Amino acid sequence: DGKWERAAEMVKELEEKCGTPVWKLRQVAEAMVVEMHAGLASDGGSKLKMLISYVDSLPTGDEKGLYYALDLGGTNFRILRVHLGGKEKGIIKREYEEVSIPPHLMTGSSNELFDFIAMALAKFVATEGEDSHLYPGRQRELGFTFSFPVRQSSIASGTLIKWTKGFSIEDAVGEDVVSELSKAMERVGLDMRVAALVNDTIGTMAGGRYNDPDVVAAVILGTGTNAAYVEQIHAIPKWHGPLPKSGEMVINTEWGNFQSPHLPLTEYDKTLDDESLNPGEQAYEKLISGMYLGEIVRIALLRMAEESALFGDIPLKLKIPFILRTPDMSAMHHDTSPDLTVVGKKLSDVLEISDTSLRTRKVVVDLCNIVATRAARLAAAGIFGILKKLGRDTLRDGEKQRSVIALDGGLFEHYAKFRNCVEATLRELLGPEVAENTVIVLSNDGSGIGAALLAASHSQYL
Ligand code: ADP
Ligand code: MG
Repeated sequence: DGKWERAAEMVKELEEKCGTPVWKLRQVAEAMVVEMHAGLASDGGSKLKMLISYVDSLPTGDEKGLYYALDLGGTNFRILRVHLGGKEKGIIKREYEEVSIPPHLMTGSSNELFDFIAMALAKFVATEGEDSHLYPGRQRELGFTFSFPVRQSSIASGTLIKWTKGFSIEDAVGEDVVSELSKAMERVGLDMRVAALVNDTIGTMAGGRYNDPDVVAAVILGTGTNAAYVEQIHAIPKWHGPLPKSGEMVINTEWGNFQSPHLPLTEYDKTLDDESLNPGEQAYEKLISGMYLGEIVRIALLRMAEESALFGDIPLKLKIPFILRTPDMSAMHHDTSPDLTVVGKKLSDVLEISDTSLRTRKVVVDLCNIVATRAARLAAAGIFGILKKLGRDTLRDGEKQRSVIALDGGLFEHYAKFRNCVEATLRELLGPEVAENTVIVLSNDGSGIGAALLAASHSQYL
């Protein structure tokens, strides 16, 4: 009947609009390279901020001592204590704690958020065991991973440019996040010094390099998306500081804000953007990252419910923004049961749509597939763009150069079809010869360890 025709038509239309043939991905990568150059030339030169991290040397393995790290940037924040043993012993011990952030703190005041964090940190510090050796009389030191765009003025200071990913705390914008955290630590009576302020991409880069000297870039595919890479200092016209010994500087691209007419956008993306906390911003991130994929599927399903009567009456729950989360979408997408039991259960549990037919469930899986495939292929195009910028997309003088990308984030880690598609698409873009020497390594919480390593290499006691 007509309902199925319209539904099939809408799926087909979406699939066409979300199409990412290789030639289009090459255009996206090319545009990314152009924007990277523009962002390196001047502040405000591009939607790609290409932020200077003040990290000009990456971990060597010699780092020693007891350090803390704090990772703030998604729905959870993580605290880490790590005992570094230098070249011989490596990482002697690491202890984690994960704390979820009460949603009201994500849109409240700066003091409330930082007090909450400082309190959790103080509690964790209190669990320090006998075997945690801090030299007597020394102050504890922390690597602070703060995964929002920050304009840094040194390795341990920087002002927040804007919030992303569902955070919106007006009075923190323009403030130095290190001093905000330090003041909160003082308020709760915690004596600790922030030795390094890093983005999660920078932390992942540092953690990745500690494990593998061929790591040239770090990519995050989690709640949000971003990437960092090592740039030659002479290729950064906007850098007016002293020339680092290494001749290099790690750059935080903030690629989540990438925008290009080549990006395949649909009316559903427009709806998502309009309803978001940051309309007009983070276009690439809204196509790719875990915060948004489930929401795109929800918006598409709602439109189908309205136009094709796919579910009979319009299910009320389907009208609630962000009710369908990316992990639910992933579970439905991976359903291999003959009658799509998981899809049926998710539709009923999450959206209160019961008794769905197999045909309806198949439409839902199709939508998940279209949205996830576009996301994964665009992410691969971004990685390809960075490799292009580094001249690592081709054989250099016929020589093989090994390139490793450290990748962190729950989306990449847990969404197998997404992950496989990123990897397959990158191979497709690179061609078999270069692909053979290009590796993506899952750098599970590399950013926490990385921040601790950078705290160690920027310790006041060196
Ligand atoms: P963050 O990016 O907030 O630092 P993570 O790297 O752990 O944290 O990523 C969490 C994100 O990963 C979630 O917001 C979610 O979008 C995505 N994610 C987590 N689990 C899954 C899953 N099973 N399938 C798909 N996406 C997932
Ligand atoms: Mg993270």
